[in-house]
Amino acid sequence: MRKAVFLDRDGTINEEVEYLDDLGDLRIIKGAYKGIRLLNHAGFKVVVITNQSGVARGFFSEEFVNQVHGRLSYMLGQRGAVVDRWLFCPHHPEVGSPPFRRVCRCRKPGIGLVEKAASELDIDVEGSFFIGDSLSDIRTAWNAGMGSILVLTGHGKAVFDSLSDEELCQIDFIAHDLFDASRWIVQGRKR
Ligand SMILES: [Zn+2]
Repeated sequence: MRKAVFLDRDGTINEEVEYLDDLGDLRIIKGAYKGIRLLNHAGFKVVVITNQSGVARGFFSEEFVNQVHGRLSYMLGQRGAVVDRWLFCPHHPEVGSPPFRRVCRCRKPGIGLVEKAASELDIDVEGSFFIGDSLSDIRTAWNAGMGSILVLTGHGKAVFDSLSDEELCQIDFIAHDLFDASRWIVQGRKR
């Protein structure tokens, strides 16, 4: 079994844009290329898991989300950074109309997509990590029993300020950005 690093998308890999709906708005955050390359070279599977309730809200289609992932994959790949799998949840429990308005297991902090990736890529979940800029990312890590890393890009700084001391203690590492987070993992989790 391989270890994996699960990544959030908006605010972790690319600059946060509320309900991104234009491919031209995609900007990769500084440190993301290098961070993902580091994980690739260290032998981790890299899996992106993102909540895209904009689909349920009718802001954009599932096809558009796939186009965004194709574009990000291309941008990252040009600088040698490879994502093994892009997975997203298009649902919302209360907003929009069926089939996308529903309670699901794939919306973070649910672990449906972690389990999907784990079975498809033969991943050792307990030896893996989740890196993200929101509390739902951290809770996904906790729910799946893997390491949790909060990045201070995207909403990360505001999330950091809003956390209780008890929550902060349970986060394995607070990182400046994706590169800082990846370096910490690759160097063997030394604080
Ligand atoms: Zn879902």
